[in-house]
Amino acid sequence: MKEKIQEKFRTLFGEEGELFASAGRINLIGEHTDYNGGYVFPGAIDKGIIAAIKINGTDKVKAYSLDYDEYVEFGLNEEDKPNQAWACYIFGVCRETIKRGGKVAGFNTVFAGDVPLGAGLSSSAALESTFAFALNYLFQNGIDKFELAKIGQSTEHNYCGVKCGIMDQFASIFGKEGSLIRLNCKTMEYKYFPFNPAGYKLVLIDSCVKHELASSAYNKRRASCENAAAAIRKNHPEVEFLSDAKRVWLDEVREEIPEEDFLRAEYVIGEVQRVLDVCDALERGDFETVGEMMYQTHFGMSRLYEVSCEELDFLNKLARKMDVTGSRVMGGGFGGCTINLVKDELYEPFVKTAVAEFTAKFGHAPKVYDVVISDGARKL
Ligand code: ADP
Ligand code: MG
Repeated sequence: MKEKIQEKFRTLFGEEGELFASAGRINLIGEHTDYNGGYVFPGAIDKGIIAAIKINGTDKVKAYSLDYDEYVEFGLNEEDKPNQAWACYIFGVCRETIKRGGKVAGFNTVFAGDVPLGAGLSSSAALESTFAFALNYLFQNGIDKFELAKIGQSTEHNYCGVKCGIMDQFASIFGKEGSLIRLNCKTMEYKYFPFNPAGYKLVLIDSCVKHELASSAYNKRRASCENAAAAIRKNHPEVEFLSDAKRVWLDEVREEIPEEDFLRAEYVIGEVQRVLDVCDALERGDFETVGEMMYQTHFGMSRLYEVSCEELDFLNKLARKMDVTGSRVMGGGFGGCTINLVKDELYEPFVKTAVAEFTAKFGHAPKVYDVVISDGARKL
């Protein structure tokens, strides 16, 4: 990919650019915990964006997307927003850097990537993080890493119409080979944990479905969580977010809140604890426990939080039947991928069977993505 990028850069601009990269991400465990002030546990992956960039001495950005085979030129003022969606990510990163007092002037760039788009691996965060990191480096702005992640997040909010949390950009900027990062979404404290699953592979099976329920259901889940937290807060004023609550405190209010809210809260409180349990297990190199927690998360998302769907439950059940170490739906739910922790020797039969049986049942083939935990934003 690097060679192709530089070749195109030479053709367009007559020289080579400096190379920068960043990555997509997975989240091993910790789903629907972010807006409840709990933990997420993401890591950057071996699929990302690479960009060749060179300051061009003008006030224009000249950008070429290899994957879309499209060239766009834009200025750096608010009214210069380009029409192409992919270019808006780059424009947004420029604008958000400028808003933070950073310098950005015209540059040439050619870039490409291998994160599947819209599959739940956050190709958009990979794109934002590549440019946020690169511009900070090239213009020597000295913006800290957390703020670089926020530049990506604000780009989504203000220039791409996506009201996302911070996890994707955080993972993409902070990601490190062989490490997952536990992020406390209330305090923004984070800690690296080793993730070197020798003898296992991580593989995602993409159901390639997206059920329409997602956004209205999401708002309902949030309301349930806030309702449960408010009830608990009457007895325990220290509960700011649902993640602050102990399980027994939830039991105290069981009669006061709708059963549905109770089940949603039961999932969230359990999920926060599971992230902590997985971190402990990783420090012991105990991947069997990690896998078991993943199954528990899937159960919770399916039966308590009710954000799974037939396709994902099918993949999860098949994984269990084949003795796959861990499996769960990844992301918000109602479609997307399952993430699976599979012993090396089981990898081939599992993937083969999953593809065959899923295709036979649902009439379309799932996609398969191997992932290895790798470095996030960096200069090559
Ligand atoms: P995801 O879940 O993968 O982040 P999004 O819809 O948020 O999906 O972001 C995908 C968008 O990001 C694409 O439509 C495109 O505009 C941009 N993008 C991602 N990867 C690339 C790439 N390799 N080249 C050009 N644009 C990309
Ligand atoms: Mg995205």
